[in-house]
Amino acid sequence: MIPTNHYSAIVIGAGPAGLTAGIYLSRARVKTLILNEGTVGGQMVLTHEIANYPGVDNISGYQLSMTMRNQAKKFGCDIKANINIETLDLESDIKEVVLADGTRYTADAVILSPGGRSRTLGVTGENDLKGRGISYCATCDGDFFTDKEIIVVGGGNSALEEAVSLTKYASKVTIVHQFDHFQAFEFAIEEARNHPKISFMMESKITAFHGDEKLNGVEITDLKTGEKENHAIDGAFIFIGYVPNTEFLEGKSELNKWNEIVVDADMQTSTEGVFAAGDSIAKRYRQVTTAVADGTIAALAASKYIHEINKNKTFQHA
Ligand SMILES: Cc1cc2nc3c(=O)[nH]c(=O)nc-3n(C[C@H](O)[C@H](O)[C@H](O)COP(=O)(O)OP(=O)(O)OC[C@H]3O[C@@H](n4cnc5c(N)ncnc54)[C@H](O)[C@@H]3O)c2cc1C
Repeated sequence: MIPTNHYSAIVIGAGPAGLTAGIYLSRARVKTLILNEGTVGGQMVLTHEIANYPGVDNISGYQLSMTMRNQAKKFGCDIKANINIETLDLESDIKEVVLADGTRYTADAVILSPGGRSRTLGVTGENDLKGRGISYCATCDGDFFTDKEIIVVGGGNSALEEAVSLTKYASKVTIVHQFDHFQAFEFAIEEARNHPKISFMMESKITAFHGDEKLNGVEITDLKTGEKENHAIDGAFIFIGYVPNTEFLEGKSELNKWNEIVVDADMQTSTEGVFAAGDSIAKRYRQVTTAVADGTIAALAASKYIHEINKNKTFQHA
């Protein structure tokens, strides 16, 4: 029989939001465990270089992840990576997490920080060239494409607004969209249409990315004629939607219609003792800095909650 391990707080997800929560909780002497499905660091480890994290001048995503992890461990936080959660009980006063290997953990409070992922095109070369010319974040990577020719894929507000923002850097931006019209607000369409650096390839889609170390070209298929053409290109930005990693929370925590976790200003979810932080919550801007801020708030609110329930227990027993 595997014994149950009790923690004051369990954090699910070790991206910047979860690691920050771990740093704050452990430093406040709250016994904390972080559980992470994959490699510690979350989306940061996919990032070749993070150039916009204040106070740190150009650092690799992996290095920033390891620094945050070591900081959390230094304060006594336990971290378990490469785990799979089998069952999760968030409703009871004592929360319970059971892993696929049968290990059982309980906690007074839980912070959910499972992050998310950009929707991908799923075409040849995309996986290999992610972060090597293919990006899903203009704020993060736009600067790397100064004076370069790039493609933007998508037809919604994000694609059009980001295409315009990328003109600050790129010499030429071509928007590739599969339909003959956009699904964006009229003002966003107008702004893109009137921009001298932006051109359009409608009813077309990327069917392959080319390059060894770095992206150097794309295959574009004309959806009207079926004709395929190769184009030399320095970068491709894909804005076709975002998916929060909240599948495992369905029926366990309130999610909005985009499957994002609903929280209040203190990162409290609809369930008592359960907080959430980072890219998986309902919000507009998703960056390392915003994830870190959410993780801080969630940890402070969770610490207060744990303190209150323990104070009440002591009071009842006196
Ligand atoms: C290619 C790329 C480049 C980027 N560049 C920058 C940049 O330069 N600057 C910037 O500020 N932002 C950048 N971002 C965005 C930034 O990385 C994210 O906003 C940030 O990592 C979100 O942090 P998070 O902790 O909420 O989630 P994540 O980083 O997504 O981490 C979530 C963690 O939770 C784990 N997890 C998921 N589900 C479960 C589960 N069921 N059980 C246990 N664990 C689970 C995941 O494996 C992951 O490790 C970039 C993103 C990408 C994809």
